Amino acid sequence: MGKQLQRSHRLVLVPCPYEGHLNPMLQLGTVLHFKGFSITVAHTIYNSPNPHNLPDFSFLPMPDGLSDRGVTSMDVVGDVLAVNENCREIFQRSLEKLKETQGEIISCIISDELMFFAEDVANNLKIPSIILRTTNAATSFARSGLVKLKEKGLLSQDTLSNELVPELYPLRFKDLLFSLSETLENFSAIVTKIYGKRASSAIIWNTVSCLEQATLEQIQQQCKVPIFPVGPIHMIAASNSSSLIEEDRSCLSWLDKQPHNSVIYVSNLGSLASVNEKEVTEIAWGLANSNQPFLWVIRPGSVHSSDWIELLPKGFQDDVGDKGCIVRWAPQREVLAHPAVGGFWSHCGWNSTLESLAAGVPIICKPCFGDQKVNARYVSHVWRIGLELEELKRRDIESAIRRLILHEDGKEMRARAKELKEKFEVCTRKGGSSCDSLNELVNFIMSFGTRTHLVS
Ligand code: UDP
Repeated sequence: MGKQLQRSHRLVLVPCPYEGHLNPMLQLGTVLHFKGFSITVAHTIYNSPNPHNLPDFSFLPMPDGLSDRGVTSMDVVGDVLAVNENCREIFQRSLEKLKETQGEIISCIISDELMFFAEDVANNLKIPSIILRTTNAATSFARSGLVKLKEKGLLSQDTLSNELVPELYPLRFKDLLFSLSETLENFSAIVTKIYGKRASSAIIWNTVSCLEQATLEQIQQQCKVPIFPVGPIHMIAASNSSSLIEEDRSCLSWLDKQPHNSVIYVSNLGSLASVNEKEVTEIAWGLANSNQPFLWVIRPGSVHSSDWIELLPKGFQDDVGDKGCIVRWAPQREVLAHPAVGGFWSHCGWNSTLESLAAGVPIICKPCFGDQKVNARYVSHVWRIGLELEELKRRDIESAIRRLILHEDGKEMRARAKELKEKFEVCTRKGGSSCDSLNELVNFIMSFGTRTHLVS
């Protein structure tokens, strides 16, 4: 790490309140704190981070109205827009108070790409701001391209199909939507908000040059502000877990008893997605029939109409015995780094994808929504370190697991994943691209005091 600052420069971080957004922002905060900045996290009451895990940070809770209206994974876009509406005023007032009562100088506000209100407030108060993007670069590039096609009248609801997007192989139009039920109007409205003209002075990206160099270069050519790819942030931040759900560490001793590269780790819903009883039944028998040991995360509430595992098929747990371990939530990064784990069945959230690559573990991809579909296409068709599971049917599941863990092409995928792991290690080491990018980011923030900040 570079030269440390005197701790008089405060950064205000504004994460989006979902596990996959919160974690990278808090990890970034940890790295920047280590670099010498003071950190304040302005967070919603819903999914608020646990201050005990981050004793060096200060916190600014913001009533968000979400808890009252009931949060649903079915309407993530609606929830995000509500947070933006509900937090704007309180955020502005809190920052004004911070400046008045404590005479604080805020060097910069770093906000999640979905927390648009923070950028507006930064502008009102003349504080520089930077965006953190927690998805991959390919998603941004492709989605902004789609908006341009729409503006030119070259995109209609019918186009959102299986067709390949021109010049964006292997992406299909349908991979770029947030959900299949979405209308083109809603899609372009939110995409324009996220990827359109923004008021921030720079973009921090949780991705890594060795994975997305060409795309990052194309984005940088189109973008007027600097981009800092500092990922995978979890590899440069020696942070405590910031998980919102309690991790069950007992699965690590179960893993200790399993043969090398034999276990399929199944966390195929992430923190938001869910399945119905029929789907969970197919998953259960697919796992059992594969005859491979499995570690299965079933998040409480992720199976419709049940609290946890009540709807697992009768006889399933007796059938699998010690071959299966089911937990509510796992210490995922430690699980992926365990030598017994031979593959990851993932929904391909961007954090899970990066964590799997960082551990050299190949992936069975079954994306649910959002950027997961783009990630899955890249995992299977570009980086070739995984395979796509088309349908949640027990036969397909069984054969995908056996192929990934036992067959020759699965072994080749694992070998390619291990190569990427090594590249990630180089990038995140001193002198590596992510490490350099981080130092450039620190210098960039420090230069705010000496010049007027850019506006894109
Ligand atoms: N995660 C975890 N334990 C689990 C399942 C997931 O710690 O049992 C973490 C995982 O390591 C990742 C995050 O939850 O950092 C999920 O983020 P991702 O972007 O993969 O998916 P999302 O939840 O946003 O759909």
